[in-house]
Amino acid sequence: MNPGAPLVSLRGVRKRYAGGTLALDGIDLAIGQGDFLALLGPSGCGKSTLLRILAGLDAPSAGSLDWADGKPQHDIGFVFQEPTLMPWATVMRNVALPLELAGMRRSEAEDHAATWLARVELAGFEHAYPRALSGGMKMRVSIARALVTRPRLLLMDEPFAALDEITRFRLNNDLRQLWLAERFTVVFVTHSVFESVFLAERIAVMAPRPGRIVQSFPVAAPEGRGEEFRTSADYAAQCRTVSHALSAAMEPAA
Ligand code: ADP
Repeated sequence: MNPGAPLVSLRGVRKRYAGGTLALDGIDLAIGQGDFLALLGPSGCGKSTLLRILAGLDAPSAGSLDWADGKPQHDIGFVFQEPTLMPWATVMRNVALPLELAGMRRSEAEDHAATWLARVELAGFEHAYPRALSGGMKMRVSIARALVTRPRLLLMDEPFAALDEITRFRLNNDLRQLWLAERFTVVFVTHSVFESVFLAERIAVMAPRPGRIVQSFPVAAPEGRGEEFRTSADYAAQCRTVSHALSAAMEPAA
């Protein structure tokens, strides 16, 4: 990986669904290698549509996506709000499977899986079944499974929205630390101003009807963010700024 080098550029991306809804219009967005970009906006502003287009699961109606390596639908990790683990398989098997499906020997795949489980603080739970895990732990497994193949882009669609606040804070802390250590490229969809400012290097605020990016903010914060940052005046001030942009984005057009 080459931090800062472009990974994908979207130009003039528009998406109109068959029913006529203009879900996205005029999306210009460059994602660099190693970026942590948050897409922040109310329901219906096209965040999921944008992720689906990045994943190659849906095609834009107009505009283009230019991947620096020229390979459009390739090598994307996805984490959803639901961890979607296989209930009949152990944590280790869940995380090793994507590598085995890609042709890796089982023992080697399990070595990689064990490494990623340790990175998400689940060492010692390799042989547990998903039903024995809390919601936060299941989400950690889901993150390990998405990263074990080292995708060129990780897409996260409101992954922590169903978790209680304490668990969510812990996962935010740990995801930030994991990103600092591994520098994968991530696009993270959220409704939460607090989460976006805590996690991201850059926030794109979106508005609905039609779905578009109305403002983009770099987050000015120390790299290693933790409780100190979360309780700082600087964090509160940046949350206020982003929150104002979000409120403006939600007002009906004059
Ligand atoms: P968000 O993720 O921000 O809530 P979505 O991307 O899910 O927004 O949806 C954007 C708009 O497109 C909404 O008005 C939604 O109803 C509409 N939409 C989403 N998926 C489809 C679909 N498959 N067919 C028709 N309309 C859709």
